Amino acid sequence: MPGEFDLIRRHFARPAPNAVLGVGDDAALLSVTPGRLLAVTSDMLVAGRHFFAGTDPESIGHKTLAVNLSDLAAMGARPRWATLAVALPEADEAWLAAFARGFFALAERFGVELVGGDTTRGPLNLCVTLFGEVDPARVLRRDGARAGDDVWVSGQLGGAALALAHLRGELDLGAAAGACLHRLHCPEPRLALGRALAGLASAAIDISDGLLADLGHILEASGAGAVLDTGAIPHDPACAAFPDRIAACAWAGGDDYELCFTTPPACADAIMRAGRAAGVAVTRVGSIVAEPGIRDARGGVLPHTRGYDHFA
Ligand code: ADP
Ligand code: MG
Repeated sequence: MPGEFDLIRRHFARPAPNAVLGVGDDAALLSVTPGRLLAVTSDMLVAGRHFFAGTDPESIGHKTLAVNLSDLAAMGARPRWATLAVALPEADEAWLAAFARGFFALAERFGVELVGGDTTRGPLNLCVTLFGEVDPARVLRRDGARAGDDVWVSGQLGGAALALAHLRGELDLGAAAGACLHRLHCPEPRLALGRALAGLASAAIDISDGLLADLGHILEASGAGAVLDTGAIPHDPACAAFPDRIAACAWAGGDDYELCFTTPPACADAIMRAGRAAGVAVTRVGSIVAEPGIRDARGGVLPHTRGYDHFA
């Protein structure tokens, strides 16, 4: 039976040339680029709550880092280092090897070094803390949206929520299942877009809880409201077969990890160019208004879902 230190050495200790000191001491030592702010975020994935027990461990490794990368994308930050706290029911080497494969494949793509963590026995639980750097003059926050700004979203929404409904047996996605399940299990953090938006967008957030809920966070922080052209909200092609689910999945469904952001209207051409350069579609879906709440173009109040509340 491998011990805690064997598991760490075998699966998580990797060279970290951009850290002063990585895995192996009591703490990692990091040197931040002068003039940059350190952007720090933590997200936890809990078995039975964020994923079904039995989910492919490689995709869990991907997603546990991807959800944190998505937070840094929404700040316009460049990810640099991560720590990983894992609780495991048992020392399952095959599970850990697959988890680490998914984790490090994504880490390498975005230049993230794993510099520490904690490994303990317990109910399956993965927590990443991610450290990034951002130019203080260009950082993207939630509180900068102003009346008159345009509201944009990246990519297409609703695929992950459809996949969840499929896994719960509420519907059958048929041939579209593979692509939607990939969206749910292997989200693509929009880092290139986030960095292209830095200095351009007035506010940004990543869509983890659904467009209405997450836009609601921008509106609350900015003291504003929004009018959405609901017909313009880009939905996953799989939604076409389930028209009665478009509102629940594309407008209010979580786990897509696209970006929602606001910009002054004069920036529209620059935003289209940023989307092309980042390789992701960007769609204007509405405007910021002074009056609080989210309405459709006809003035109807959109159900202001609050997102998923673990304690409600
Ligand atoms: P301590 O008891 O001083 O907190 P640990 O024995 O928990 O240290 O961990 C030993 C070293 O391994 C530390 O450098 C720690 O950051 C690192 N480490 C532990 N678990 C992980 C993990 N899952 N991923 C990466 N590094 C880890
Ligand atoms: Mg410890």
